[in-house]
Amino acid sequence: MELWQEMLRQSVDSGKDLVERFGFETGTAEKLNKFFHIRVNPYYLSLIRYPGDPIWLQCIPDAIELEDDGALEDPLNEEAHSPVPSITHRYPDRVLFLITSQCSMYCRFCTRKRKVSDSTKINAKWIQQGLDYIAAHPEIRDIVLSGGDPLMVTDYALERVLSGLRAIPHVEIIRLGTKMPCVLPQRITPKFVKMLKKYHPIYVNTHFNHPWECTPEAEKACTMLADAGCPVGNQAVLMKGVNDDPDVMLELHRKLLKMRVRPYYIYQADLTKGTNHFRTPVRVGLEIMDKLRGHTSGLAVPYYVIDAPGGGGKIPLLPQYVLGRNGKDIILRNYKYDIFTYPDVEEQQPEQHPVERTYMRKKRPSRRKMPVPAEAVTTSESLAGK
Ligand SMILES: *Cc1c(COP(=O)(O)O)cnc(C)c1O
Ligand code: SF4
Repeated sequence: MELWQEMLRQSVDSGKDLVERFGFETGTAEKLNKFFHIRVNPYYLSLIRYPGDPIWLQCIPDAIELEDDGALEDPLNEEAHSPVPSITHRYPDRVLFLITSQCSMYCRFCTRKRKVSDSTKINAKWIQQGLDYIAAHPEIRDIVLSGGDPLMVTDYALERVLSGLRAIPHVEIIRLGTKMPCVLPQRITPKFVKMLKKYHPIYVNTHFNHPWECTPEAEKACTMLADAGCPVGNQAVLMKGVNDDPDVMLELHRKLLKMRVRPYYIYQADLTKGTNHFRTPVRVGLEIMDKLRGHTSGLAVPYYVIDAPGGGGKIPLLPQYVLGRNGKDIILRNYKYDIFTYPDVEEQQPEQHPVERTYMRKKRPSRRKMPVPAEAVTTSESLAGK
């Protein structure tokens, strides 16, 4: 057995463990474990500094999860976009491919609770159905391996999936969506990265939420992945009490860059059952973005996105930089709230453009003008208070 598998076996993994190690009341502990399986491995547990800290909140359950918050089990309507159980096909050219329901830790805020941890949900037949579906759809060029955590399976099992995908000519890139570098960095071994190298281009997206997770062990795991030629990105989730603070997010994203991890997304917390206590106002996310852009390396600035409820996909949100228009001028502000006027280029109607009329009209969809929303029309007086 490898070290990481041994560590997993030593996880806090039951209601009984919660009672013995954290003083939970038995009934509550069992109910919580039934609602969403408890699992915290000894490495992640060692990052906790005090009860209720940002690490604790992510992994130790809270009775508040059991209150009915009216939220859905599948807020993103992933099931509706599942042609076979292991695939979510929402975007034109890429799919999520779920190869396991297991995770090295069960994050209390997880949006995929309905699938995760239930081992009856994913089996070998489903993986084959996923490969068959991808092979039958030549428009799919990007595969996001997900779960659960796709690194929960053995190197051998993962290699079977990777070689299966590489046998499909139209598969261009493969991404691994894994929390391992953050929650169980010991999973990233020399043998593992050597195997990955055979299946490039492989991208890795990991999931750090707080600067305390950026440990020497995590740094080593990310370095090994980067040295093996995998660009590593990060997807963080914005959560109350964990990282809903511009200074915490700034520190996290700077630390990630130092570990050779490129921030990719900050997700607004989804409306998943039992996670209402983590939600933050969108204003907080926008303020965080406002305090990143310009104030630190552009490389440290991810996209802030909301996964549209009901399954519309990820929608990016930006603080308002366009304050309005004045004739052909566009009024902008920078990261310090200085105001600038930029003379925009006046556009010709597409019908009047001779080249377009002759050659391009049929090929091109009608051009839609980007609207500047009404509330963006701000005066300099109203900004004076900032
Ligand atoms: C997030 C996601 C992807 C990948 O989206 P990118 O913006 O390309 O990273 C693909 N499919 C589904 C269903 C997703 O939720
Ligand atoms: S690792 Fe990802 S899929 Fe697994 S519980 Fe955490 S957020 Fe959910």
